[in-house]
Parts: sequence; C-alpha cells; structure tokens
Amino acid sequence: MTKKIFRSTFLVSFIVFLACMILSLGFLYSYFSELQQSQLSAELQLAAQGVENNGIGFLEGLHISDYRITWISSDGSVIYDSMADADQMENHLNRQEVQDALSTGTGSGVRTSTTLSERTYYLAQLLSDGTVLRLSYSTDSVFALLLGMSYAIAIIIILAVILSLLLSKRLAKRIIQPLNKLDLDNPLENDTYEELSPLLTRIMHQHRQIDEQLEELHKRQTEFSAVTDNMSEGLVLLGADGSILSINHAATEIFGADSSAVGKDMLTIDRSRQVQELLGHAMSGKHSEIIISRNGREYQFNASPILSEGKVNGVALLAFDITEKELMERQRREFSANVSHELKTPLHSIMGSAELIENGLVKADDMPRFISRIRTEATRLVTLIDDIIRLSQLDEGTEMPKEQVDLLAVANEAAEALSSAAADRHVEINVSGTHTYIYGVRRLLYEIAYNLCENAIKYNKEGGKVSIEVSNNSITVTDTGIGIPPEHQSRVFERFYRVDKSHSRETGGTGLGLSIVKHAALYHGADIKLESHVDQGTKITVIFPEQKVEK
Ligand code: ADP
Repeated sequence: MTKKIFRSTFLVSFIVFLACMILSLGFLYSYFSELQQSQLSAELQLAAQGVENNGIGFLEGLHISDYRITWISSDGSVIYDSMADADQMENHLNRQEVQDALSTGTGSGVRTSTTLSERTYYLAQLLSDGTVLRLSYSTDSVFALLLGMSYAIAIIIILAVILSLLLSKRLAKRIIQPLNKLDLDNPLENDTYEELSPLLTRIMHQHRQIDEQLEELHKRQTEFSAVTDNMSEGLVLLGADGSILSINHAATEIFGADSSAVGKDMLTIDRSRQVQELLGHAMSGKHSEIIISRNGREYQFNASPILSEGKVNGVALLAFDITEKELMERQRREFSANVSHELKTPLHSIMGSAELIENGLVKADDMPRFISRIRTEATRLVTLIDDIIRLSQLDEGTEMPKEQVDLLAVANEAAEALSSAAADRHVEINVSGTHTYIYGVRRLLYEIAYNLCENAIKYNKEGGKVSIEVSNNSITVTDTGIGIPPEHQSRVFERFYRVDKSHSRETGGTGLGLSIVKHAALYHGADIKLESHVDQGTKITVIFPEQKVEK
C-alpha cells in the first residue's frame, strides 16, 4: 500500500512540477522574446537612421555587445559586421530576412544553432541606397535554459521523492490504523470510513452464512457420528492423502485407537502390510476385501474407493466381526466331514459282513454272529441318524411345543428306559429329589436326562452307581465312573468329540450325546456345570432359569 501511495504522490507532484515548469518557462520565454524583438526593431530603426546619415562611420563608432550589426550590399556581400571581418564573410543574399527586406523593405528570421543551445533572431531593413541593415541577437534556447536548470530540477525531483515517501508512509499508516482496529466479528459496530460500509455489510452477511453452514455441518457431523458410533461394524473414512477423516467407536476398538486419530495418517493406527495393500488397492479405484485377525477375533475388511467426478477422493474402510460366522462355518465343515466319517464306519462293516455272506464265505455256525453284527451296526446307524436329525432340528431353532414338564417324572422315565442297560453293567440307578416343573419341551428335557444318565452308565465301572437328583430347577446326574480328564472337560460338549474313541464306539456312542444335551439346555436357557475326577466319577448339572410357577 505504501508503495502505491508513494507512486501516486510522486507521479502527481512530478506532473504538477513539470506542468508548472513548462507553463512558466514557456510564458517567460515568449514574453522576453517579444520584448527583445520590439527592442531589436527600435534599435534597428535608430541604427538605420544613423547609417543613412553617417554611413559606415556611424557603425564603427558604435560600441555594442548585445547585438550584432551587419550591413549588406544589394548584391549580398557584407559591407560591415560588428563581430566578424566583413571581407571573410560569405554572401548573405540568400538569407531569408535579407531577401524579404530587399523585396518588401523589412524582413525577419529566426535560426537555431546546430547544438540547439542558441536561437538567433534577425531583423533586416532596406536602406534608401538599396543596401540592407541587419540587426541580430542571440539568446539561449529553451533547451539550453532547461539544461542550465538541470541541477535545480534534479534537487526538486529528489525533494519530491523524499516528500512523497514520507507522505505515503504517513498516509498509509493513517489509512491502515483504523482498518487494523476493525472488529471483524461484529462488522457493523465499527466506527470507520464510510466507504467501508458495503464491505463490512458483506462481511457480516458472510459471517452469518458461515455460522449457518457451520451449524448445519455440526448437525450433520453429530448425526453422522450418532449413526456410525452405534454401528457394530468398524468404519474408517480416509482422505485422498491417507489421513483419517472419521473413525467410529467400533473401529477405534478394532485398531486400538481413540478419536484423537482423526486428522492423522492411517499408518499411525495400523502399520500392517495387508491393510496398507488393501488401502492401496482402494486408492487406485478398486474395491477389495481381506480377512484379518485382530485381538483374537476374525474381521473382514472391505475397502472401497470414494469417487467424485471419476477421481478417487478417499477410501471407506468397513470392518465386520466374522468370528462367530467363521467359527460356525468351521464347525459346519467339521460336522459334515465327521458325519460322513461316522456314517461310513458302520456301513463298511455292514457291507463287509454282507459281502462275506453273499460269497458263501461264512460258515453256517458263524452266520448268527455276522447277522448280529449287521444288526448292531444298522442300529448304530439309525441311532446316529436320529441324533443328527435331533441336532439339526435344534440348530434350526424351530419352535417346538412347550408345556409344564415335571423334571422328576422325566428323570424317572429316563432311568426306567435305561434300567436294563444299567443292569447289564451291574450299575445301580437312583433317582431322588422334588417335583420341579419346567415350562419347556418335554422331548428335549427327556433327551437331557436320558443322555446324561446313559453316559453315566456307559462310562461307569462294573457295579458302579448313578444318581439322578432333581431339585431347585436343576437336574444333576452323578456317577462313580471313569471320569473325564481335565484337558478334555471343556471339549466333551463338541460334536463327535470323544475322550476315548474305541471305548465310546464299543458302548455304541455316537459322540453327539452331550452336544444334544448342550443344545437342549441352550434351548431352555439353562446352564451346564461339569465336575469330574478321573477314576472317581463325573457330576453334570443342568440349571434351568428360575421358573414362574404355573401348575
Ligand atoms: P458318546 O456318544 O461318545 O458318549 P457324548 O457326546 O455323549 O458322546 O460324550 C462325549 C464324550 O465325553 C464321550 O465319548 C466320553 O469320552 C465323555 N463322557 C461323557 N459322559 C461321561 C461320563 N459320565 N463319564 C466319563 N466320560 C464321559
């Protein structure tokens, strides 16, 4: 600003100075020129008179230094010159003022020296004898005058520069001071230049607009955060430079970050090569997915480019927790593999026996043994298929009819059904407790009691004991059997899991009994507790939730 003011002030002062100088110089120059010309004319009159009367003697008697007097004959040769030797001078006939004087009686002329520094005025008059008397005087040209004044002009210009500088600095300061004091937060409350009113009004309007937009933005941000923070999926929005624009609550937990990560590079919360590659793909405009482990859980990361006008403006990273899904998927795969295996074993046995009989390789005495094996294996198959059907029904979670079921009655039924199996192994079953009513599915409650009791007999010792106790919304089956080693206790409820495969098979076990118990208990919202000591026995309790008594 100072520079601009300086330039303007200096230019104005310079122009004014130049104009004044030209005008005054022009005026004075023409005034003095005219004055001198009229003097010249008067002097010429006098000189002409003198020459007419006294001839050359008059001229020689004159002592003038201001003017130059030249007397020229009618043929142009110089008779007398006050400054030079007349004989040495060239013919003057072709001079304009001489020509004019010869033809009209008077003549005048002006000539500028070759250096432009001098102007000479000539005035000529025809004398009665046909000669011409010429008077001339020389004066400095305007140019020479200016040259003479150059020092003064230079000083004046330097002064103008200094003054303009000082003035512009002061002016700029005085103009800027009130501008610096402007309260732009309250533009209309300023007492300042009138000229600034439109600007201040515009600033105020823009303030209002910005406030409104900020409020709107804040509202949207809050809405966005409320929505994304309630998502169970992790969501991270990245800018084109890889910086985090937004990270929701779920994502902060997955990446072990907090909300201060916003604005920082994604690398500050995750440096893994897999994630960087995934984001790199998305940045190049391609959608990609990976499955990754974090904090002992499995996540699926989906990265999609955010496109605007065909250009990638950022990336949206969504993280889904697929731990349960993966687990179920694995269990399903294992289950299918196990089912096929479990079905194949008895079938191979049946086919082997049948083939031997078919080919007449079985002696008549051995025939009953082979037929009995086929029957046992076929029964095993049926039991297995029944168990699988029961489990898949439980898996599907289909609604089954519920009723008030007396758990003690169910326990008695199961003990009754297993009495011959118990008798075979000389195991004593004892059912005790109070009538406990559970609002549930009778068949499933029976399955619980039956499977627990069956295992307690199967994995018992000869002459062992089994006690079924019903009390306080729970059923407990205790045996004096072989027990379950501690390292297997957490796994016996898995499908097809057996501590001792051969023993389980020998006793006709499918490996699904405890799985069915677990699912049936889950169906009723019941908990299972297992206590077992090798060679001492096992105690399994199924605890049902507190029942609203409805008899
Ligand atoms: P199975 O059909 O083999 O009995 P289960 O699912 O009922 O299958 O039981 C799984 C495994 O748990 C059994 O193979 C057995 O090794 C063990 N188990 C179950 N109940 C008992 C128990 N009462 N005493 C000792 N081991 C048991």
